[in-house]
Amino acid sequence: MKPSTAPLYPWQTAHWQQLQAYVLQQRIPQALLLTGRAGLGKRQLADQYAAALLCQTAEQTALACGECSSCQLLAAGTHPDYLRIAPEETGKAIGIDQIRQLNQKLALKPQFERYRVVVIEPADALNVAAANAFLKCLEEPTERTCFILLGQYASRLPATIRSRCQKLVFLSPAAEQSRRWLAEQGVSGDADMLLEMALGSPLLALDYAQTDKMALRQQLFQDWLKMAASHSHLAEIAERWQKFDQIELERLLSWLALWLADLLKLALAGPSARIGSRDLQASLQQLAAKLDLKGLYRYYDTVLTSRAKLTTTLNKQLLIEALLLDWWQLNNR
Ligand SMILES: [Zn+2]
Repeated sequence: MKPSTAPLYPWQTAHWQQLQAYVLQQRIPQALLLTGRAGLGKRQLADQYAAALLCQTAEQTALACGECSSCQLLAAGTHPDYLRIAPEETGKAIGIDQIRQLNQKLALKPQFERYRVVVIEPADALNVAAANAFLKCLEEPTERTCFILLGQYASRLPATIRSRCQKLVFLSPAAEQSRRWLAEQGVSGDADMLLEMALGSPLLALDYAQTDKMALRQQLFQDWLKMAASHSHLAEIAERWQKFDQIELERLLSWLALWLADLLKLALAGPSARIGSRDLQASLQQLAAKLDLKGLYRYYDTVLTSRAKLTTTLNKQLLIEALLLDWWQLNNR
């Protein structure tokens, strides 16, 4: 870990300056809430801030030195004053037991002279009981303890928690800045298309460019075309889609939403419409030509609602089957 005066990503400068000012002025908020879409670097910025709070020499610089014993313990993942609360399984809730254990640890003093940092990610995964228990941590502050909450859906947190947090909202950077950054990372493909797919999140766009997710997207699109053509694929496709975890499902539904938005653009403006998924233009155009506009709007709405329901839906199978069936019906009325 090297000290750096700059944030990790160029679009985070203002947020980082704010966090640095907290450290330099020794006005550390008791709780910070970092919200915004995935792929904007919330975690990386939170880590950089946490390191500055823990480092033994960062008081004057707001920069972790990377060399003191605190920095070394943090890098080794064994700093006693750095606590991380996350769901025990991806996509699951953070339960009350985890917050009870946290409370027990907070009853003890921090081990080092500087701050104790508690990171909760994703904070919107706190279930109701856990959120209520956590509220007590905020109401009865323990010494030199700073909570950092990260999450995409801040609105799911109780207002009583949100109102006790300093908020940093992460927005997608300007397209020009994202394009420049992607080029610097060696991305040579269609940056605009990657950014559209990633809903404007540069880190996600980079991930798409560097991994096999483009192949996965292609496969899912083929599934979707097959389903439009025949009902007989329902069971086979539903079985495969059900195996996705929460994050993958969210991505899948985001892609569906993008394709539907493209279909709507094509249906309204014709083949010259500027769509996001340009590589799929031919197939999308064929679909757009035969689909009913009203039904398309309705289905678009269904996909968005399903995506919002993902964290609370117990029956993934039902949700996926309904989505596929609706899609087939739209194509075969
Ligand atoms: Zn240090």
